[in-house]
Amino acid sequence: MVDNQADQSPERQVEAISKAFEQEIERFVSFGDWAEVSKLNLESAIAEQRAVAELRTRFLGKKSAIAATKKLIGRIAPESRGAFGQLVQATEEQLQTRLEQIESSLSRYIEEARTARESIDVTIPGRRPRTGHRHPITLLRERLEDVFVSLGYAIEDGREIETDFYNFDALNIPENHPARAKADTFYTTEGFALRSQTSTVQIHAMQRRGVPVRMIAPGRVFRRDTPDPTHNPMFFQVEGLCVDRGITMAHLKGTVAELLRRMFGADTVTRFRPSYFPFTEPSAEFDFSCFKCKGSGCRICKNSGWIELGGSGMVHPNVLRTVGVDPQQFSGFAFGFGIDRMCALMYELDDIRLLFENDVRFLEKFK
Ligand SMILES: [Zn+2]
Repeated sequence: MVDNQADQSPERQVEAISKAFEQEIERFVSFGDWAEVSKLNLESAIAEQRAVAELRTRFLGKKSAIAATKKLIGRIAPESRGAFGQLVQATEEQLQTRLEQIESSLSRYIEEARTARESIDVTIPGRRPRTGHRHPITLLRERLEDVFVSLGYAIEDGREIETDFYNFDALNIPENHPARAKADTFYTTEGFALRSQTSTVQIHAMQRRGVPVRMIAPGRVFRRDTPDPTHNPMFFQVEGLCVDRGITMAHLKGTVAELLRRMFGADTVTRFRPSYFPFTEPSAEFDFSCFKCKGSGCRICKNSGWIELGGSGMVHPNVLRTVGVDPQQFSGFAFGFGIDRMCALMYELDDIRLLFENDVRFLEKFK
């Protein structure tokens, strides 16, 4: 900052400090002018304020050259000591004044700019936050739950990882049944199965609550399928179970028919076809009359007039015995169907995978 300080006379040193200061303050001088300082944005004004503060420390701080020259006063010949003291003081005051002008202008501007930024214009229309909405499968699941709750059913939640006992044994699925094969069911390394049907919840519910019981269990199930437009390795089912004294197939048919009327309209017709499931006897698959063409044939029902939906039957006595219920005293029915399949039908989706890809452009249609 000041060269060869020791070689110069004290007066020359003060003069050199003054000159060096003038050179450095040059680029800040214009900020003393309101018109100039207000061209800055808030961030650069703050940066300039910091640079000016640093300049002040360098020229007027305790370790500054001007502070050092004060220490020289004692060594000056007494006759010129007064004059030198005045020179140092005058120089210091001048530096002080120059800096203060720039500093006050900058800090006033920064304060105003901050206030302007923080002030709220109450006349500007608000920006609505983007809210999400429920997934179509969730919406449908809730509709189904509402129907069953109104029929006196409880909603049961079950675990997705099961032991072989709940996934197969308790459901009367024999040892050699293909559903147990590793090609059909996902197994963990510890030998647990990702449940391949929500029927597992029936067993838990009967063990926990005993009978009589009326419950539905909506939830995810897992099967080793290759994804295609009508299959996905993970999908949603809803399982229903009703066990009481004197329950017959008529109760099953009435319940399923009532559900389908509430979902697809009062004129919906239901039909049952004989089938086989290990956990029910007798077993039946159920179809309903096409909600689109009312039975005359269309693309959705593949011109048959009927839509296949799910499986059902009277709970197998072995299943009741497994959970300690006497099949001589109690009987029951169970049914199950895919929520995603029903969803795809209702919204006429050609590809069930759309429901699991979480593409917002698709999902937003269900707002
Ligand atoms: Zn149809």
